[in-house]
Amino acid sequence: MRSITTLCIQYAHRFYGFKGEAQYLHGHTGTFTIEVEDTINQGVNMVFPCNEIKKVAWEILQNFDHALILREDDPLLPAIIEVYEKQGIKNGHPQNTMKGEAFNTELARAYPECRLVVTKETMTVEGMIKMAYELLKDKLNIAKITFTSGANAASQEYEVTTTKDRCPLCGIALDDNGVCPKCGYRK
Ligand SMILES: [Zn+2]
Ligand SMILES: [Zn+2]
Repeated sequence: MRSITTLCIQYAHRFYGFKGEAQYLHGHTGTFTIEVEDTINQGVNMVFPCNEIKKVAWEILQNFDHALILREDDPLLPAIIEVYEKQGIKNGHPQNTMKGEAFNTELARAYPECRLVVTKETMTVEGMIKMAYELLKDKLNIAKITFTSGANAASQEYEVTTTKDRCPLCGIALDDNGVCPKCGYRK
């Protein structure tokens, strides 16, 4: 069975080199729907607590929230960095506190200090799904990701072949030693 959660991000981007309006810098509110598949944990009668899926996903995905997402070869990138540098906000600001764990993968690199994500590919809804899956696949048994942004949407299904050990009391994933990080339950 699946447990499903949604979370929203607000972001700015553009399609560099694209012959349409989207080549101009603009913004969206995007919504992820993340479906996690596993057996039903008999102790709590759920696959996985939805608020925990949200928490795990948000730790990473908040890097895309209130962020500027640009492709690595976009000439706007050095221009923006220069402005942030001159303004003294490139390396962070006391009011920039909603920062996720920085990541650097094949597809994307996050700079949480200045709310910038540099991508290898154009950040379409399809591109966003590829990045999110790459970032979350080892943390959650993801069966499907849907991403909608304005009138655009895409989804991708994934085959889940493993099961995660979960706490029978709170439902969250046990750590490598078989201990629940929330309530201390031991397998
Ligand atoms: Zn757009
Ligand atoms: Zn527990």
